Amino acid sequence: MNDCMPIVQSELKKLTALSMTNGWLNSAEIQRTTHFEPRDEKEAVSLLVVHNISLPPGQFGGGYITDFFLGNLDPTVDPYFETIYKVRVSAHCLIQRNGDIVQYVSFNDKAWHAGVSNYQGRKKCNDFSIGIELEGTDDIPYTIEQYQQLSCLSQTLIDAYPALENNIVGHCDIAPVRKTDPGASFDWALYRELLAK
Ligand SMILES: [Zn+2]
Repeated sequence: MNDCMPIVQSELKKLTALSMTNGWLNSAEIQRTTHFEPRDEKEAVSLLVVHNISLPPGQFGGGYITDFFLGNLDPTVDPYFETIYKVRVSAHCLIQRNGDIVQYVSFNDKAWHAGVSNYQGRKKCNDFSIGIELEGTDDIPYTIEQYQQLSCLSQTLIDAYPALENNIVGHCDIAPVRKTDPGASFDWALYRELLAK
């Protein structure tokens, strides 16, 4: 699907729920990273954070996001990579432009996606959240496949962690001074409509 095509809501449908084993999606590409910590067993998963990322910025494909989250980014590939290749971050999942999911961290563990953050007075959002990255930018429309997969994944996670249902935000909402993602290009109304189907 061309990225520039307007998204027609009636064409969208929610995909079949995904299945999980020990916090890992059974149908995703699994790329386990060491960029995580065990989650405190007493800490309920109660926040879903939507992000965007593209590497190099504004370019899609190439596999560099996975390299980055695994700590394997080659600093010689792009000047921008020299500035970030030692940064140890991650997310639970990446949804690529074609809708395919890569998972890096079990939902039962803490991924390093939120950074300095605050949700309704609670800091250190990594402790109690799940972070989902959309391959994209703040100003390029996301794909239909990404909305479908995000809504499907969100529903799957809500089923597993019911506290998520009314606690879905963007990175911009929990780190408003530092972060703008998923940006103006993310259609929250469309996402919520699809999630409600
Ligand atoms: Zn982010």
